[in-house]
Amino acid sequence: MSDLSRSPAPKPRVVIIGCGFGGLEAAKALSHAPVEIVVIDRTNHHLFQPLLYQVATAGLPAPAIAGPIRHILRKQIARGNLTVLMGEVTSIDTASSCVVIDGGEHIHYDHLIVAAGATHSYFGRDDWAKYAPGLKTLGDAFTIRRRVLTAFEQAERENDPAKREPWLTFAIVGAGPTGVEMAGTLAEIAQQTLSAEFRRIDSRRARVILLEGAGRVLGTFPEDLSERAKDQLAGLGAEVLTGAKVTNITAFGIHYDITETSPDGTPTTVSHFLPSRTVVWAAGVAASPLGRALAKSTRCQLDRAGRVVVQPDLTVPDYPNIYVVGDLASAKSYLDPQNPTPVPGVSPGAKQMGRKAAFNIMRRLQGKDSQSFRYIDYGNLATIGKRAAVAVLDLPYINKRVKFSGFSAWLFWLFVHVYFLIGFRNRTVVLMDWAWAYFTSQRHARVFPDPHALEPNAMVVRVTPPSTPPVSVSAVNQPVTTSAAGNTGTAPGQAAPAR
Ligand SMILES: Cc1cc2nc3c(=O)[nH]c(=O)nc-3n(C[C@H](O)[C@H](O)[C@H](O)COP(=O)(O)OP(=O)(O)OC[C@H]3O[C@@H](n4cnc5c(N)ncnc54)[C@H](O)[C@@H]3O)c2cc1C
Repeated sequence: MSDLSRSPAPKPRVVIIGCGFGGLEAAKALSHAPVEIVVIDRTNHHLFQPLLYQVATAGLPAPAIAGPIRHILRKQIARGNLTVLMGEVTSIDTASSCVVIDGGEHIHYDHLIVAAGATHSYFGRDDWAKYAPGLKTLGDAFTIRRRVLTAFEQAERENDPAKREPWLTFAIVGAGPTGVEMAGTLAEIAQQTLSAEFRRIDSRRARVILLEGAGRVLGTFPEDLSERAKDQLAGLGAEVLTGAKVTNITAFGIHYDITETSPDGTPTTVSHFLPSRTVVWAAGVAASPLGRALAKSTRCQLDRAGRVVVQPDLTVPDYPNIYVVGDLASAKSYLDPQNPTPVPGVSPGAKQMGRKAAFNIMRRLQGKDSQSFRYIDYGNLATIGKRAAVAVLDLPYINKRVKFSGFSAWLFWLFVHVYFLIGFRNRTVVLMDWAWAYFTSQRHARVFPDPHALEPNAMVVRVTPPSTPPVSVSAVNQPVTTSAAGNTGTAPGQAAPAR
């Protein structure tokens, strides 16, 4: 057994931190390279995040969208050139060329690929996290699934209609693709899945409200598709509030401001409170804290979302053997070298960067220069619900852009996501589950562990009266203020927009 804290002559060692889209692609691309690879991830699984909302909304079981890293990379492990370690990298010591796992164990690297991804950003209000979980990990998806299903159960038990209402009000903050997916699917659950299963409540009366700080949903899509997405959401029974800047979130609901124009033309900020027991955060992402750890050790520059500003070949300045890829990298594409463009935080970007970092390591090993990264953008897809989606396809070879929405976009979205899932079994399971859901409107993963065992305080929230009762649904005129931390729109300097 090799000592991982030392240099492994004669083969150089490539350490890959994170086995998401970027890290996994890099490991596969190095499969036949004359290197020893160590993949470190804090979880035991590779996660297909684009379908995470399906786990959160009980449409798919977790193993359908996640696979054990060891199993995915088993052929390379059997070949003897790859080791998988489960652990959290806490720091990177460039002086000794080591990464530190869980604050103790040192792993030596000759080349390092940092692919630790991103996390939620609450725009400086981390205290909101306990009331408004984000969606990034399987743990987050299970939390949201449990809270959503528990809210309907609590509503069924509640005798007082005024207290029942907030249990039947679901708020999603942030109308990027994840927020739109969540809103559309929650509306479907209320309107269709649960409609015949409760006696004391009518689940179809539940409100699903999508709050967005900017002026439209799906801000990265063309405006006409934003409009169509909004119409499709309305068709499913979800409400959309644009220009809504969230100012506070508590166990009892959301406070938000909307700037309105009064009859004399003066813009006025009106504050609202939306009583809701279930809030989902889909408003902002920030780079993994590992970016800061790397900056401490290399003095590299971080952008405002905490991402590492990388060189054209994806390395850290002055460290030609350290690459940063995926959501943690603030990278540019040099497709047109005179006019480099920012690479979006999406899975094709992470995969292409992972492959490029591996390719550049191989070139360096051959004594050649590394190459600049060139991102090929094939377009953008977002699903809204059954038979509802929007799509923009860029066809680079014929230099054409195609936009479509509705059933055709939904079918296209479905096949693209099934195609990119890892493993034949997962593709089959997902196709069968979706076919079943399509014809029955059922979501068969509607189970969650005993909430008392998991989170004892979850039930306490129900019976503990607020120390200061929140203002009921009200509007208070206030003078116009400039946007404060807590806006749902991307706060400059704090976070990247959520997907
Ligand atoms: C809910 C959701 C939906 C999305 N939908 C889409 C979509 O439809 N289409 C699309 O293109 N993109 C989508 N994205 C974005 C896409 O998933 C990301 O761009 C992509 O995952 C980035 O890949 P990555 O390798 O940089 O990071 P990730 O895939 O996030 O992987 C990071 C890995 O690093 C590990 N890690 C993190 N920190 C450490 C540490 N300190 N030590 C060890 N391991 C660590 C994590 O466990 C994880 O496995 C979505 C993202 C989310 C959250």
